[in-house]
Amino acid sequence: MRKNIAAGNWKMNLDLESSISLAQQISKQNIPEDVIVILGVPYPFLFSCSLHAANNASVFLAAQNCSDHESGAFTGEVSLSQLSSVGVDYIIVGHSERREIFNESDEWLAKKLTAVLKADLKCIFCCGEPLKVREENGQAAYVEEQLKKGMFHLNEEELKNVVIAYEPIWAIGTGKTASPDQAQEMHAHIRGIINQKFGATVSKNISILYGGSVKPGNAKEIFAKKDVDGGLVGGASLKGDTFIPIINSF
Ligand code: PEP
Repeated sequence: MRKNIAAGNWKMNLDLESSISLAQQISKQNIPEDVIVILGVPYPFLFSCSLHAANNASVFLAAQNCSDHESGAFTGEVSLSQLSSVGVDYIIVGHSERREIFNESDEWLAKKLTAVLKADLKCIFCCGEPLKVREENGQAAYVEEQLKKGMFHLNEEELKNVVIAYEPIWAIGTGKTASPDQAQEMHAHIRGIINQKFGATVSKNISILYGGSVKPGNAKEIFAKKDVDGGLVGGASLKGDTFIPIINSF
């Protein structure tokens, strides 16, 4: 059975005090039985937040990035064993901001994904098309290419530790959400790609999250779609008042 997931991506927001207070507030919630919550916390606050997440078996911690190197002379980078040692469970790989602003290529992301799984961590692998591609109706082929280049080197067993997040770039932080039908169409397409490459069991069991201006007012309708297993939420994950209703939207 695939999991319903409410994942928050705090990006480069909050400070130590507000991070701890948000992690504490979320970890005190009665999370619905079939839902897990993942908090994408900035590096410096991961350890403190993990102490709170540890109090709730349904709350997990994600780093927003990682190095694909094991250790050594990589100034400013953070390794997977370091992240694991502070209580991180998931790594967000291939967020469009990493792809676009930091020039992370499909090949580099494929390496990161391999490294994450080798380190016994789980991955939220992001894909999604820019506005221009959507306007030309090229989203299906675009996302298929991202999945092929980023994930097709994995095996069926490894896919058990991967969650896919479909995040159309034109909907991230813009207030423009894909309609529930647009999300469903792309999620079904992604599940179909996974089915073709990895088989029916893997495609049935992999969680596919929607990301792009998810809010308390639209989460229920989007999450109700057959192939949408939850959301990767940016802005609305920064406050309990907006993230908790999203957690309760399944
Ligand atoms: C994101 O950053 O992954 C995201 C979906 O942001 P927002 O919810 O703010 O659009």
